[in-house]
Amino acid sequence: MGAAVDLQKVCKVYNKIPVVNDLSFTIEPGEIFGLLGPNGAGKSTTIRMLTTLTRPSSGEISVAGYDAVRQSLQVKNHIGVVLQQTSVDIDLSVWENMEFHGRLHHISNPQRQHRINQWLDYVGLTEKRDALVKTLSGGMKRRLQIARALLHQPDILFLDEPTVGLDPQTRRRLWEIILDLNKQGMTILLTTHYMEEVEYLCDRIGIMDGGKLISLGTLQQLRQQHGEGLVVKQKEESWEYKFFPNLEAANLYLEQQPDKTGLMVRPSNLEDIFVELTGHQLD
Ligand code: ADP
Repeated sequence: MGAAVDLQKVCKVYNKIPVVNDLSFTIEPGEIFGLLGPNGAGKSTTIRMLTTLTRPSSGEISVAGYDAVRQSLQVKNHIGVVLQQTSVDIDLSVWENMEFHGRLHHISNPQRQHRINQWLDYVGLTEKRDALVKTLSGGMKRRLQIARALLHQPDILFLDEPTVGLDPQTRRRLWEIILDLNKQGMTILLTTHYMEEVEYLCDRIGIMDGGKLISLGTLQQLRQQHGEGLVVKQKEESWEYKFFPNLEAANLYLEQQPDKTGLMVRPSNLEDIFVELTGHQLD
């Protein structure tokens, strides 16, 4: 089987400004891929191109083996999408939202009812099937969005900041759903601002800044590239970081310092690497 998602030299220009610039990467079937980047990096625009909501200005995109521009219908049939904006209809009931989506995808009965029941049960919303969506909590709404995105049995799921604004327990619950779907064979691309979410869920990580991919790999690869040991120096209001290939090298550096005040050694994590690469602290 070919790549689940493949971008080759993709650009998107708005008002003569490239907001996605020469982006190339591949996601293999069965991967959970995390796209990270500060606000304005181009993550949402990338997801919008991958999900056929907007066309690239140049470059090639294939999703589930189909061209995202010339075969957008086939792409739509093979992907599930949970975006911030494409929210569920709050004036309809849970079941009506599912029913509407099932009809849009031409899933006929009795299969449609079977799948609605199956996915509502999977995300734990069976008891809420007749509730109006506006009465649901944020976590329930997000689970409904996921159930709806799964109704037409996609191969690839796109999740744009799936756990933003949710309490820690609800986030954990969604993480378990994401991992379980992946175990069942689903390829997943997610964007997030939460480093621990990426560390917990993602097989590989792409970091974007200014429309470009500035780093790509597993967490272990990123740590090896940038340094697994860190010396942190506390200055009045801020912290200074110095990366070392490993903890021993960081400790050696510390020992050699005549003044060790405010100095500390620890293993590097994804947030350290992110800040080092983008120069931004996340909001
Ligand atoms: P991210 O999701 O990483 O925060 P976005 O893809 O939303 O980044 O935005 C990248 C840049 O593209 C931003 O500077 C944003 O203002 C700009 N942008 C996004 N969509 C449009 C649009 N429809 N028209 C003009 N500029 C846009």
